Amino acid sequence: MTTDDSPNNPTLAPVCPECDTPLKLSTGINIGKIVECPSCGVECEIISVNPLKLAPLEEEK
Ligand SMILES: [Zn+2]
Repeated sequence: MTTDDSPNNPTLAPVCPECDTPLKLSTGINIGKIVECPSCGVECEIISVNPLKLAPLEEEK
């Protein structure tokens, strides 16, 4: 059994799930917040904050 007791990282550094561009989030990270990637323009929704996870929004056509 491995002990992965990593301390809380105060610096959240989310990246775009499409192109790995670091995304800058304004203060206040909430589940459901939509973040647009400045590089590829994909919109990502924060689906988890601990750990921080983003999922690209799927466009309906
Ligand atoms: Zn991107």
